[in-house]
Amino acid sequence: MPADTESLDAVIIGAGPAGSAAATILAEHGRRVLVIEREQFPRYHIGESLIPFSYHPLERLGLIPRLAASAFQKKYSVVFVQPNGQASQPFYFFNRYDRDTVAQTWQVVRAEFDLMLMENARAKGARVLEQTTVTGLVREGGRVAGVRTRHANGTEGTFLAPVTLDCTGKEALSAVGQGWRVKDPFLNKVAVWTYYRGSRRETGIDEGQTTVAFVPDKGWFWHIPLHDDRVSVGVVAEGKYLSRGGVRDAGAMFRREISQNAWVADHLSMGEQTGPYYLTSEFSFHARHCYSPGLLLAGDAFCFLDPVFSSGLMLALKSGVMAGDAVHAALEAGDLSPARFVEYGRDLRTGIENMRKLVYAFYNPEFSFKDVIEKFPDAAGEITDCLSGDVGKDFTRLWERVSQFVPLPECLPLGAPLAEVGAP
Ligand SMILES: Cc1cc2nc3c(=O)[nH]c(=O)nc-3n(C[C@H](O)[C@H](O)[C@H](O)COP(=O)(O)OP(=O)(O)OC[C@H]3O[C@@H](n4cnc5c(N)ncnc54)[C@H](O)[C@@H]3O)c2cc1C
Repeated sequence: MPADTESLDAVIIGAGPAGSAAATILAEHGRRVLVIEREQFPRYHIGESLIPFSYHPLERLGLIPRLAASAFQKKYSVVFVQPNGQASQPFYFFNRYDRDTVAQTWQVVRAEFDLMLMENARAKGARVLEQTTVTGLVREGGRVAGVRTRHANGTEGTFLAPVTLDCTGKEALSAVGQGWRVKDPFLNKVAVWTYYRGSRRETGIDEGQTTVAFVPDKGWFWHIPLHDDRVSVGVVAEGKYLSRGGVRDAGAMFRREISQNAWVADHLSMGEQTGPYYLTSEFSFHARHCYSPGLLLAGDAFCFLDPVFSSGLMLALKSGVMAGDAVHAALEAGDLSPARFVEYGRDLRTGIENMRKLVYAFYNPEFSFKDVIEKFPDAAGEITDCLSGDVGKDFTRLWERVSQFVPLPECLPLGAPLAEVGAP
């Protein structure tokens, strides 16, 4: 198959938040960019809760006015609920950040949100091919030189560019293909979720808050109110716990857990369940490298972290913007060597490791936010900062304090660029 003859600066695989963000930035820099997306948008996707530090990449993408004018449910806080139904004090983001900007975020329906992001990339000049699957990477002289594709109608193609961005999400096309995918040693859960319509919601400023509700010693529920009187509700735990007694059906697993938390049982006692039950496993993995010559990873394709603190969209948007800037700067300099992407990998890993420490603490049965805050009252602010996604901040003091209660993981030595494709 002859290569597509159009001249491109970058090919992006995947039009999710990471891919569309990167495409928007590159197009704004005047780069010729092609996004290749397997699905036809709008398409369903899980992952509906934004956190405050999504604000900066969304602002950079020019989307804050559209989000402010949208119907998406506003979110100001997160709250943790014990199995008996007792709720913590909400962590209100406006106790730390400006109420009218960063501290107010959204619960988004991904079909609508991702379409908005993709159309924004198109409006800025990126070309997007939908219903087209990337089937493989083209390699030339030790570097990635583009992609091979198949359209839903069966047509095959090849697109070449100096740099390819892998934004394929949790499927992580190139990390899987190159053996770069590293499972997190501990964070390996299963999630089962569905939607309710007309169920109980909080009122006023708390209407859009994310609730994390504990299943005794085993896992947790998310409860994310959406704008169309629907709520996204899921339960996350070890697979063997959810399937105990030989239960294999996702709906049966979900329904059995409802009674494990009084708050969840109460909130779902009215309204009706709607749509399918979904199940996913393989929680949390990391790519060994962020870059090899001609290939850059962003979003979940670089790292997928357990979603308990809703950090995925923020990291996807942020890494997409960073990737767009880093690729533009490298093209401008005429230098796509791995050294150009050292800072990109390091900054992303710093943020991921901060969030990962909080996730590890959360899963330790000995840990409670309340204990930490009782001993160190000013830790509440820093915990809110991390929950808000201010993950580039120096949290050394917070981690010293938290590790007085539970052990925290060492940073994984991952994420640096690889010098040559296929090198060990
Ligand atoms: C159960 C669960 C709950 C979650 N909850 C939250 C939450 O509340 N808040 C939050 O922020 N995050 C949450 N997340 C994480 C969030 O969904 C992701 O972090 C986010 O979608 C990552 O964006 P992305 O652009 O990297 O990837 P995606 O959004 O997955 O986009 C990848 C795109 O690539 C396309 N693609 C894949 N392979 C190919 C191919 N070969 N060729 C062409 N196109 C391809 C896909 O069709 C897709 O459109 C959750 C995740 C899970 C699993």
